[in-house]
Amino acid sequence: MDITTKLKMNNGKEIHQFGLGVWRGGAETKNAVLAALKAGYRHIDTAAVYGNEEQVGEAIRESGIPRDALFITTKVWNEDMRKHTVKAAFELSLKKLGLDYVDLYLIHWPVKDEYIHTYKVLESLYESGKAKAIGVSNFKTHHLQDLLDHTDIVPAVNQMEFNPQMQDNDILKMCTEKGILLEAWSPLGSGACLNDENLKTIGGSHGKSEAQVIIRWLLQKGIVVFPKSVHENRIIENADVFDFTLNDEEMALINGMNKNLRTGPDPDTFNF
Ligand code: NDP
Repeated sequence: MDITTKLKMNNGKEIHQFGLGVWRGGAETKNAVLAALKAGYRHIDTAAVYGNEEQVGEAIRESGIPRDALFITTKVWNEDMRKHTVKAAFELSLKKLGLDYVDLYLIHWPVKDEYIHTYKVLESLYESGKAKAIGVSNFKTHHLQDLLDHTDIVPAVNQMEFNPQMQDNDILKMCTEKGILLEAWSPLGSGACLNDENLKTIGGSHGKSEAQVIIRWLLQKGIVVFPKSVHENRIIENADVFDFTLNDEEMALINGMNKNLRTGPDPDTFNF
C-alpha cells in the first residue's frame, strides 16, 4: 500500500484510497492543494458549498500533473436539490474547477424528498461521461435502502463521518455488502480525536503521531480517507503512513473507541 494505492469501485473504475480534504481550507486552499500534489497526493475532495472549487482548479493547472493521473470529487449542495437546479450546479462546478469531467460527483446530504430526483440527474451525468462515477454522502442505512429501491445505478461510494469516536458500523456493513466503498469524512474528528492516550501509546510504539495512527487504521479497514490540512508539514505527515502496520490488537483497540459521537450534524435531523 502507498500514496497512490487505488481501490476498485463497483463501476470498474478506480479511486485513490488516500487524498486531501479541503473543507474550511479558505484562502489557503490553493497552496494546500499544491503542497499535497507535490507530496504525491492525487485525490482531492471538494464540494460546491466549500466555495473553493476555483482554487482547487487553479492548483491542478499549476501543478502540471496530467488530468488522468488525478481523482477529483465534488458535491451538489442542498439548495440546488431543493430548487431542482442540479444539472446547472454540476456545470457550474465543472466551470469553477476548469475541468470537463469529475471523477466522482456526490449528493452532499440526503435532503428529505429531494435525493431521489437528484440522484436521477446524477445518473444522467454518469451516462454522459461528465461524472466518471456517482455516489452519495451522509446516507444512513434507511436513506441508502430507499435510494437503492428507487434508482438504477448503485452508488460507487458513501461518504460518512467516520473516525475513532464516530464509527457507524451498520452503514459500513451495508456498504460492504452492496459493493459501495465507504469514504471517511472528518477522519481526525476535525481535530477532536487527537490528544488521545491510546492513540498516543500506539503511535509511540511506531514512531507515529495520533493523526497518522487514525489514518492508517482507516486505510487498513479498507476505507477511503482524505484528511484536511492547510499546513505543508501536516500534509506531508498525514501521507507518511505507508511504512508501518497496525497489528490486530491495535486495530481492535481503536475499533473499541467508538462513542457514536458526531462532530457534525446527524443526517436525520440536520436542515440546512
Ligand atoms: P479532519 O478530520 O481531516 O481534520 C482536520 C483538522 O485537523 C484541521 O483543523 C487541521 O488543521 C487538523 N489537522 C490535520 N492534520 C493534522 C495533524 N497531522 N496533526 C494535528 N492536526 C491536524 O477534518 P475535516 O472535517 O476537514 O474532514 C476531512 C474532509 O472530509 C473535509 O476537508 C472534506 O473534504 C470532507 N468532509 C465532508 C463532509 C460531508 O458532509 N460530506 C463533512 C465534513 C468533511 P490545519 O488545517 O490547520 O492543519
